[in-house]
Amino acid sequence: MSERHRRVDPGPTPPRVLLVDDEALFRETLAKVLRARGLEVRTAGSGAGAFDAIEAEPADVVVLDLKMPGLNGLATMHRLREIAPGVPVIILTGHGTVDAGLTALDDLAFDFLLKPVPPDRLLEVILAAIASGRTPGGGRTKGDR
Ligand SMILES: [Mg+2]
Repeated sequence: MSERHRRVDPGPTPPRVLLVDDEALFRETLAKVLRARGLEVRTAGSGAGAFDAIEAEPADVVVLDLKMPGLNGLATMHRLREIAPGVPVIILTGHGTVDAGLTALDDLAFDFLLKPVPPDRLLEVILAAIASGRTPGGGRTKGDR
């Protein structure tokens, strides 16, 4: 199977992703791409929106933009750890961004990926994050630092 057309087998319960990014076009485009690969994707445009979404319905993994107005990714991450402690979080960061927050997030995030992230790479990390959640201690990749 071509990597370009990779798709997960959704099975009876497709992996549930919460995608949090303040850029609507990026967010909805990425959501569409991930849905086409078999994931169930909800979106939020802010940290507050993410908290509402995850309290309304659980997610298996959160994909979180680091740079957002208002509550940034760092603050959002800390709150998510409180309200959804077992849910792995994948951080998206802008290319070339040097952010002190990354150090603070190092032990909290499952992985960091640079924007623009190839959808198949993101899918791979999402699946690894979900697998690690089911197997404590496993799967941390830190591939794209
Ligand atoms: Mg942003």
